[in-house]
This record gives sequence, structure tokens and C-alpha cells, in this order.
Amino acid sequence: MKQYQHPLQGMSLGSQRHISSFHYGDSSQGQPRAYIQAGLHASEIPGMLVAHYLREKLQLLEDSGQLTGEVIVVPVANPVGLDQTVLSYQMGRFDFATGQNFNRLFPSLAESVAQDVADQQRGSPQENVQLIRRALQRQLAKFKTVRTVDSLRTTLLALSCGCDLVLDLHCDCESVLHLYTHPAFLDAIMPLSALLGAHATLYAEIQGGSPFDEAHVEFWTRLKTLLPQHDIPLATTTATIELRGQLDVGHQQAEVDADAIIEYLRLSGYCEGGKAVEVPFPSHKPTPLAGTEVIVAEKAGVITYVAECGKYLQLGEPVVDVVDPISGETIRYVATTAGVMFARQNRRYAMPGMDLAYIAGKIPLRTGELLSM
Ligand SMILES: [Zn+2]
Repeated sequence: MKQYQHPLQGMSLGSQRHISSFHYGDSSQGQPRAYIQAGLHASEIPGMLVAHYLREKLQLLEDSGQLTGEVIVVPVANPVGLDQTVLSYQMGRFDFATGQNFNRLFPSLAESVAQDVADQQRGSPQENVQLIRRALQRQLAKFKTVRTVDSLRTTLLALSCGCDLVLDLHCDCESVLHLYTHPAFLDAIMPLSALLGAHATLYAEIQGGSPFDEAHVEFWTRLKTLLPQHDIPLATTTATIELRGQLDVGHQQAEVDADAIIEYLRLSGYCEGGKAVEVPFPSHKPTPLAGTEVIVAEKAGVITYVAECGKYLQLGEPVVDVVDPISGETIRYVATTAGVMFARQNRRYAMPGMDLAYIAGKIPLRTGELLSM
């Protein structure tokens, strides 16, 4: 295992921050390379504990010579957000300095990379991928960042952009395990979904807002358009794994999740024994992210859930009540699409406009920005 520290730019006088990456196995001879990070939204802690167990298991695999590729783990992807505390509440979703969501606005370097490689001889798809990845590292090295939040984003991109598989570990407020991915990756990602026991797999060509996973997909998709004379595959398979709710942090569950990810790495050629991996039948079919019904509070009041996360709701089934204890009015919200309710709030007071619950419907019903704020 090799450990590296990557200093962040844009710090205040007398301060330093860095991102630690842990590299297991080897990819110097063209073996596959995977990247797994946790805590980009720094108030989402379950992934950090899963990363802790992943590191233990990867070390054992490396020590016993079973790794057949390289796996990079970044267990704390956002030291900036992790240190944002107001009145004892740690708040790691938005950057205090800019107001930006840490998992949005990842830069696109497709144009500059396309210019970099345009005159170079095209080769096989795999040779083109190597050519483009070298150019991407050159362009990222030249990419100037001033603010810490931008330095954080480019550091994480530089660590992950040369990888064939990128997994971003997040969690929701209260939730059952679910994943986000691109439709082109469903065949590759559904075994991971099944191994993790996910309740929903949500796919979108474009989620909107340039989150970390989409930055990788957008890069390769855009290059295919910019360099039509080159045969370019979507070289980085990505998924965001929502590891249940914010308070679902425990040794036993984290170790089970880490085991599932290791099994997936085995299946995908990063460790020996892939043929022996038994993938369970998935509990669900993937659904379009655009088909997710978001139930939004119309008025303020006390949130009282009627449905639990993980329940398959039929049309018209009750989801949540919002109670006004002054007027005595209760507004009941029901499912207007059938599907699994996969996430809900972890607060119990609603303001008008607040998202209350999410249901994974099959039929697209939303357009534009598909992710929460
Ligand atoms: Zn998140």
C-alpha cells in the first residue's frame, strides 16, 4: 500500500489541508484501476466507516497477493466540509465560503483535452483511452484553481480520472440503500446493486449540476463528439452509492457493505476469484431518475411519516402527513406514482417547499435538474 497526501490550495494564512489517498495493488502494466471515495458531502458519514473496512480488507488482499489491479481509496474526500461547524452542528454539504454544493460544479476539461490530442495519431479504443488520460493529467496539472473548493474538486478529479471504475460513497437523510448511475453502465452496475442489497437503482443521461460522477461521464461523452475520428469508449464506469441514512453508521453494517464492494471488485477483475462470486438476484429493476416522484410540502407543519423507507407504494397510498397544530389542519400526501419510497427527511418540521419523500417511479415525469439542492 502506498499513501499520498495532496495539499489543497486557497488556504488562509497559517492553515493547511490535504486529501489522503491509499493505493492498493498495481496498475503500472495496464491492469484495471478503481477509485473509491467517501465523504465528499462531509456530513454523510456512513461511507467513511465503509472505507475504513475497505482499507483493512484491501490490505489483506494485497498482503496475500490476491489483487490483480489497483484500488485507490480516499476515505475522507472533503476535509473542508468536515471542519465546518456552526453552533455545534457540523454542516458539510455546502461550502461556507461560496455557498456551493461540494458535489456540483466539477469542471469539464473535454475541450482542452480534445485540442491537446487532436493532432495525435488515433489508435485502438484502448490506445485512445491511454492517450486521452495522459492529456487529461496534463490539462489538470495546468488547470489553475484559486479557491479551496475548486482545488478540492480538481484534486479529486486528478486522483480518479485515470480509473476504469469510480465509486462515490454518499448517504441520504433517512433512506434505504440506493444507487445513481448512467444508463450506459446499468449492465456493469446492477451486479453491484444486487450485492449491496440496494432497493433502487436510478439512472440518468444527465442529472444536472455537474456532480463528481457525472463529470467523468460527461468528459468521455463530450470527447466522443469532439473527436469523431477517434474510436473512444466511455472509459470510466461510475456510480454513486447512497449508503442509507445519515445516522446509519455501525461496525456490522459497514463491514457487510465493504464485503459487498470487495466482492464486486473481485467480480470486475480487481482481485482473484471473480468466477466464484455469486451475485444475488436484484430486488428491483432500475428506474429513470426522471421518474422519481418528489413529494414537496405545500405548507409548514409537523412532519409525520406514514410510510417507511423501502416500502413499495401503490398509486394513492399515504406517504406523510404535515400537521398544523395551531389551525388543526392536516395535509396528507399520497403517492402519485407507484414505486419504492427510497428516501425521506430526517427532520420533523416542514417549511413550504421542503422535499418530504422520494419514490422511484418507472415513468419519466421530471425534466431539468434532477438532483436535490
Ligand atoms: Zn451526498
